[in-house]
Amino acid sequence: MANSPSKTVKTPSPSRKQDSTVMSENMISRYFGENVFGPEAQKQFLSKSAVTAIENAAKHGTPIDHAQANEIAQGMKEWSLSKGCTHYTHWFQPLRGTTAEKHDSFFEPVTQDTGVEKFSGKSLVQQEPDASSFPSGGIRNTFEARGYSAWDPSSPAFIMEKGGVKTLCIPTIFVSYTGEALDYKAPLLKALGFIRKAATDVCQYFDPKVSDCNISLGVEQEYFLVDERHFQLRPDLMLSGRTLIGHAPAKGQQLEDHYFGSIPNRVLAFMADFEEKAHRLGIPLRTRHNEVAPGQFECAPQFEEANLAVDHNSLLMDVMESVAEEHGLKVLLHEKPFKGVNGSGKHNNWSIITNTGVNVLSPGASPDANLQFLTFFINTIKAVYENADLLRASIATAGNDHRLGANEAPPAIVSVFVGDTLEHVLDNFESKGSSKSSKNKAESIKIGHIPEILLDNTDRNRTSPFAFTGNKFEFRAVGSSDNCASSMVVLNTIVADQLVKFKAEVDALVKGSKAKDATEQAIKTVLKGYLKDSKKIIFGGNGYSQEWVKEAKKRGLNNITTTPEALEAYLSKDAVNLFVKNGIFSHKELEARTEIRYESYVLRLQIEGRVLNELIQNHVIPSSIRFQKRLADNVNALMSVGQNKTQLKAQLEILNEISSLINQLHEDNKKMTNERSKANKIADAHKRALAYCHKVKPLFDSIRDSSDKLEQLVDDADWPLPKYTDMLFVR
Ligand code: ADP
Ligand code: MG
Repeated sequence: MANSPSKTVKTPSPSRKQDSTVMSENMISRYFGENVFGPEAQKQFLSKSAVTAIENAAKHGTPIDHAQANEIAQGMKEWSLSKGCTHYTHWFQPLRGTTAEKHDSFFEPVTQDTGVEKFSGKSLVQQEPDASSFPSGGIRNTFEARGYSAWDPSSPAFIMEKGGVKTLCIPTIFVSYTGEALDYKAPLLKALGFIRKAATDVCQYFDPKVSDCNISLGVEQEYFLVDERHFQLRPDLMLSGRTLIGHAPAKGQQLEDHYFGSIPNRVLAFMADFEEKAHRLGIPLRTRHNEVAPGQFECAPQFEEANLAVDHNSLLMDVMESVAEEHGLKVLLHEKPFKGVNGSGKHNNWSIITNTGVNVLSPGASPDANLQFLTFFINTIKAVYENADLLRASIATAGNDHRLGANEAPPAIVSVFVGDTLEHVLDNFESKGSSKSSKNKAESIKIGHIPEILLDNTDRNRTSPFAFTGNKFEFRAVGSSDNCASSMVVLNTIVADQLVKFKAEVDALVKGSKAKDATEQAIKTVLKGYLKDSKKIIFGGNGYSQEWVKEAKKRGLNNITTTPEALEAYLSKDAVNLFVKNGIFSHKELEARTEIRYESYVLRLQIEGRVLNELIQNHVIPSSIRFQKRLADNVNALMSVGQNKTQLKAQLEILNEISSLINQLHEDNKKMTNERSKANKIADAHKRALAYCHKVKPLFDSIRDSSDKLEQLVDDADWPLPKYTDMLFVR
């Protein structure tokens, strides 16, 4: 087990300021960000002009020249050597999911027995990993396998420590030799650039001093923890990330006593440990708690600039997995590791903040009078309404298919929750133009001894996939293992595109008007027009209910429940037009990405299918037979001492039941293998994905059904796989 945080805390550097008079070595402020080449380290190791160069590159995309790059590389090297690094790597997020790194040493031999540590500007700025086996969707044939990674100065370099080895990591984008993006970050940066400009232009209606906007993102991360010993005994968890068989425990989450309950000691020690590592990496984690399902937990950082938040979330998942190992635990980031209990999501809290410090999605005390708020609020709703299918596609994965619309998860129907008060504000606004909301819930709770607090103007709705929560929208349908760049590229692009259209419409109206308040009137007119259709997507009821499915259908909202169908939205005429016109993806990139998503869907199901076949053949059937044999021996023995069939009724029934379940399993297993090999022969990736979805996957369920029945019949002693009861209650 790893050291507790207090044992591993190093002496703080003297330059760290404290705003508290109490000094404790546990204080996070003493070590927060110490493994980041952020402003403080830069000041120490770089000239003023180099620091400014990084800042300008990050903020405005100003190019960094050769000499500056060399100086920055030199400073970064000195800093990381002083921290004990020997190697560096470009750190990027290829389309296969996790992060990628390829370490190079600073060391360069000079003679046979001497050498130096070197790091040039060129190595900082660009690297060519031999990356021929990262997914490219056909963009890169292996004969032109060159892809290169390029430094992203807006996300600071950091030192990753694993197994006692420290490596300097430089966040980069990853593109093909011919310039197509092969990663998550490149399009994210483009989408963020697009929305910053579009939002700034709109903000200038309200405040000409606004010259830039930042996109803020706070990512809540849900996960399960299981004991590593159990994990190692479950080939399905090891190879597919979820349990493919397993009967629900007698005590599930029915009692909801786990939610926000006291955190088990062992889990808390793990949390404290990974949080400490994350804090050293500058990841601003702030909350930890139990989630709804047993064995399920959540952590959340303070929001940050979106690109950094996405990097930090990817890094965090990595840190969590590596720290868990030291605690004998396994982190399950899969969206649905266990059947019948909650799945895991990754709520993306998103907002836009001006460089003058105004959160444009903050309604303030009187949202009705806050036209800037209403502008961004309504434009976002309109963008989601117009592009619901695309938003749905952005979160479509094999894992998330188990979660959306299932136990305690937002449905596959995209809708927006705004809360009663704001729904009222919108209604009034639509009918009267300016609205005085009659229903302001900002009332205080009147309970003695409790200090007065203002109730939040928005209420909560846990069942909505896209909810307004106070001063931000929360995209809750994102899967727990996803790279959030996928959803953030879509969300930021559709809102930016909508803001551009909005501005064009307002400007056109203003042009034809002589009124003094022409702009204000034009904004109101356009927004009112938007609400007419868009409000169909606003839904405040229970998103988990069957009534909503019916109601949504009446409203003309789509309910796309599978990944292969959802992904089609990326290649619709409108989507291609949207992305290409705004420079986020080329047509070729879109096709390649969609192909990769179809392929990875198939790959997931292929693996699951194979593992399931093996589990049934090598574990479930043999265990059942072992138990059956013991039972049969017992029946024989009892008969030999004179018991008859009536007396042995129960045992004989169990024997029969086991036989028929084994037959059923064997049949379904053969059927599934057959369907898999048929599907594998389909050349077209989309059609192959559809075949896996509709022909192969349904057999998983019937196999599971028989297997779970056997699990209930067979003696625990004969069942080699850890059961849900073992796995779900980490102690
Ligand atoms: P919840 O009740 O959903 O857990 P929190 O207030 O804890 O709500 O917020 C969840 C996340 O939302 C945190 O990461 C928080 O930093 C982030 N968040 C808060 N305000 C904003 C904002 N304006 N923009 C983006 N994210 C925000
Ligand atoms: Mg939340």
